[in-house]
Amino acid sequence: MKVLIVGGGVIGLMSALELSQAGCDVTVLDKQDFGQAASWAGGGILSPMYPWRYPDAVNQLARFGKSMYQVWQPLLQQATGLDIEINPSGMLILDQADVNTGLGWATHDHDPQQAAQLISGKALNRINPRLNPDISQGLWFPELANIRNPRLLKTLIAFLKQQPNVTMQPFTSAQHFEVKNNQITAVIDENNKHWQADQYVIATGAWSGLLSEQFDWQVPVKPIQGQMILFKAPAQWLPTMVMHQGIYLIPRLDGHIVCGSSTDDVGFNTDVNTETGLQLQHTAYQLVPELQNMPIVHAWAGLRPSVPDGVPYIGQMPLDQTSALSNLWLNCGHFRNGLVMAPASARLLKQQMLGESFMVDEAAYLPVNRLAYQTFN
Ligand SMILES: Cc1cc2nc3c(=O)[nH]c(=O)nc-3n(C[C@H](O)[C@H](O)[C@H](O)COP(=O)(O)OP(=O)(O)OC[C@H]3O[C@@H](n4cnc5c(N)ncnc54)[C@H](O)[C@@H]3O)c2cc1C
Repeated sequence: MKVLIVGGGVIGLMSALELSQAGCDVTVLDKQDFGQAASWAGGGILSPMYPWRYPDAVNQLARFGKSMYQVWQPLLQQATGLDIEINPSGMLILDQADVNTGLGWATHDHDPQQAAQLISGKALNRINPRLNPDISQGLWFPELANIRNPRLLKTLIAFLKQQPNVTMQPFTSAQHFEVKNNQITAVIDENNKHWQADQYVIATGAWSGLLSEQFDWQVPVKPIQGQMILFKAPAQWLPTMVMHQGIYLIPRLDGHIVCGSSTDDVGFNTDVNTETGLQLQHTAYQLVPELQNMPIVHAWAGLRPSVPDGVPYIGQMPLDQTSALSNLWLNCGHFRNGLVMAPASARLLKQQMLGESFMVDEAAYLPVNRLAYQTFN
């Protein structure tokens, strides 16, 4: 089977990985170089932030996703010599309002990956001696980890380029689809080149709503900007991830510390806003005062592919009002959790495309159950 994937962020690349490993011939198109958009800009926390605030459908893919990274890591490293750098740092959540809900959720969930304890005083200081001493208690998730997403992308690209059944085509912008008899027959790029396959996948992140505009069913994915700053500290300096009021610190193994993030509805704008940067800095210093001695080495903003309920669209799409399914598939709308959900989203897509049994109940993700018909067409 020939599959054409539009979009080479973590979702498109992981989908290419799953499908090519299953024997499909896969082509991935991206309008820029691969892995430069949200998937590069993100933080790489391998769990939804405050998982109790998310639907089961998100937590389920996240849980599978995290354990799948553990399996992929040695395989990808052996083939490419590159490490996706999973840092099992654990996370301290310091929001007092979430303590009871968080503990209750962790107990009810019975998932060892999400085990949590309430920690206070000296014990808190032992877990993270860099924390502001005025902070008296926090919820400790020892099993939470982060992945160094830019390294992940580099590794995936290197691996896919080694595969004889994968074609990687950067700097090629899909403009629209050619449709005959309710089936896609080609993707047409900006040079009017026709890219043909048996099955087509939209994995264009925040741009997925735009690319599907030509069809009768509206895909309500829109960009929500998130801004980040990057500190450089000595290696192992900050032992755990820290989160408070939606702002987090994520330590990388080499001492870099990612601090984010804002949530701004500013369209497709990725300009860094100075005031937002200062607010991130201010919160970072409140959580870990010694960060004031560490240089800020980079700042950036990325566009999350937001959807109303945070649950991605994964599955086959109808093209017109008949609801008949076509050879067009969606894997998009992962909003704040695309990095952690990517391996499981890609596997579910592969299982759907190849008619295999599913790792999760697919109903929650199916576009056909959730898309609204555009009456203006
Ligand atoms: C600041 C920030 C922090 C985040 N933190 C986390 C986190 O800690 N954990 C987590 O799990 N998730 C996190 N996320 C979310 C995560 O990064 C996204 O959900 C995920 O990267 C989405 O992946 P994607 O492949 O769908 O989109 P993208 O990475 O944006 O990729 C889409 C690709 O499609 C291409 N494209 C678009 N239109 C076309 C076209 N017409 N033709 C060809 N190519 C096209 C683009 O060039 C791009 O390369 C964060 C995001 C941000 C911005």
